[in-house]
Formats: sequence, C-alpha cells, structure tokens
Amino acid sequence: MLQACSVANSSAGYIGHRGDYHNVFLTRVEELGIPLHMGTEVVGFDEDKPSVFLKDGTEVVGDIVIGADGIKSKTRELVLGFKDAPKSSGYACYRAFFPGAWLKDDPLCAHFVEKDVLNVYIGEDAHVVQNTLKNGEEVGLHQTDLIV
Ligand SMILES: Cc1cc2nc3c(=O)[nH]c(=O)nc-3n(C[C@H](O)[C@H](O)[C@H](O)COP(=O)(O)OP(=O)(O)OC[C@H]3O[C@@H](n4cnc5c(N)ncnc54)[C@H](O)[C@@H]3O)c2cc1C
Repeated sequence: MLQACSVANSSAGYIGHRGDYHNVFLTRVEELGIPLHMGTEVVGFDEDKPSVFLKDGTEVVGDIVIGADGIKSKTRELVLGFKDAPKSSGYACYRAFFPGAWLKDDPLCAHFVEKDVLNVYIGEDAHVVQNTLKNGEEVGLHQTDLIV
C-alpha cells in the first residue's frame, strides 16, 4: 500500500517543465551570441587548446570544454580512459503530463489543481510523484516500479 507524504508548499526547490528550462537556457545562449552546432556529435577533444572535434571534421575552439553528454557519455570515457557503461537499476518509470483542466471538475482530484503541489507516495519497490505546475494549469504524474 502506498503512503502519502505530502510536501505541498514546501520550499525544497523549484519545479518546472524541462521544456521551459530548455527555453530559458537557449534564450540566454542566443542573447550572448554563442553559436550552436546541431545535427552533429562530439567525437574527441584537445584539452590543451581547448577544443572539441565534431563528427563532420570541424574543430571548435573555446575558453572551456564542459562535457554534459548524459548517461552514455563519451566525455566520461575519454577522460577516464575506459568504458563506463550504464547499469540497469531494475526500475522502470512511467510518465504522464496533461492539462490541469482534465481534473478540475472531478471531486476526487480537483484539490490537485487548486494550486501548485508536490505529492510523493512511497511503497515497497514503488513510488509515485504527482506535481502541479503553473498554478494548476499542468499536471505531471511519475510512477516508478521494480520490473526485474
Ligand atoms: C524517463 C525519465 C524521467 C526523468 N524524470 C526526471 C525528473 O522528473 N526530475 C529530474 O530531476 N530528473 C529526471 N530524470 C533524469 C534527468 O533527465 C537526467 O538526470 C538529466 O537529463 C541528466 O542531464 P545531463 O545533462 O547529464 O544529460 P542529458 O539530459 O541526457 O543530456 C545529454 C545531451 O548530450 C547529447 N550528447 C550525447 N552524446 C553526445 C556527443 N557525443 N556529442 C554531442 N552531444 C551528445 C545528448 O543528445 C543529450 O542532448 C529523468 C530521466 C528519465 C529518462
């Protein structure tokens, strides 16, 4: 049985949609006139210049190289000098994201969209996170289950 531990109105952090954070970042990148190289990938780097080499052969020189290439990071491999493959935790995460309007007339769910909330329900090998964004306009549901 899952237990609710509501952290509504907590000041633990800021909750937002990933797309909105991307927009803030990309807007600032554009304002600063920093060039973006889309549709290619980094295949190597020179830590002395410093520069990165793209798959199409271009070398891009900068002030600093920051590797932020995720779970299958090539940077980690290049820096560490060995493969650091991801390992499965055995958990799967199911996600849903929908307009708050879908819940507002449901007597059981309306309280989820009256204001921004973050609710966490924790059970054995499972948890559910429910959050509301933009003062009830958007709802996120995240369920994690052990699958192996
Ligand atoms: C289903 C799911 C749900 C999640 N939910 C949440 C959540 O609710 N809250 C939370 O905080 N976290 C969540 N996470 C985790 C979060 O997404 C990651 O921790 C976060 O995205 C990691 O950021 P990152 O910048 O390290 O890597 P990423 O976001 O993976 O970004 C890496 C980027 O590098 C690019 N890249 C990779 N290799 C190269 C290369 N050789 N050359 C050029 N580009 C390259 C990739 O295309 C990608 O765009 C979730 C993850 C998943 C999979």
